[in-house]
Amino acid sequence: MNQRSAQLHLETSKLMGVDFLPISKRIPILDKTIPTTLETLRVDHDNHCPHCTASTSHTQTVFGTGNENADLMFIGEAPGAEEDAQGVPFVGAAGQKLNQIIEAMGMKREDVYIANVLKSRPPNNRTPLPTEIAQCGPYLQKQIECVHPKVIVTLGAPATKYILQTTTGITKLRGTWGEYQSIPVMPTYHPAYLLRNYTKETRQQVWSDIQHVQIALSE
Ligand code: URA
Repeated sequence: MNQRSAQLHLETSKLMGVDFLPISKRIPILDKTIPTTLETLRVDHDNHCPHCTASTSHTQTVFGTGNENADLMFIGEAPGAEEDAQGVPFVGAAGQKLNQIIEAMGMKREDVYIANVLKSRPPNNRTPLPTEIAQCGPYLQKQIECVHPKVIVTLGAPATKYILQTTTGITKLRGTWGEYQSIPVMPTYHPAYLLRNYTKETRQQVWSDIQHVQIALSE
């Protein structure tokens, strides 16, 4: 309902003798009256996101970075310590690995858009809770809507499960195309997992996933 119809509705209700309205206690998640650009979305997020405004362990939110019209969007899990300090996603060790992957694709970090499911660092870098994902996730959905990439790469289990709305594990899903709102989604291992399990096999798997992405981007 836009502002004018809301006002008309209120005035009509008043004429009909309604002199009070129940007020919802729900915190607004997305303010739909504000036209959505990435910047208005960021401001809306920082003011309202129930997860991020409640969390006490982060120093700042980490919204997203990169080309707002990117063909390729990477989605990770949540900011870590370095991201929390700088306010930019993927700038720590996992970020260096992601940069190498992007460069190996013949692209620069500035060419792609990078975001996370959660926009604030969970305490002690723990895995995001389902309640946190449910509260913060809708902002990621809006971010995807704004960027409208040609291809999405989900990095690791939480991002893959959220975007593909699945409970299937990343080991099974990686390397096979999924879809989010008609956008092809390639799940792959999180760069932090790759660093922890730096074997020939995991490197080949990630590179194979990325090659599928390159083909899709060139079509
Ligand atoms: N891991 C993530 O999932 N996201 C970041 O931004 C950094 C590390």
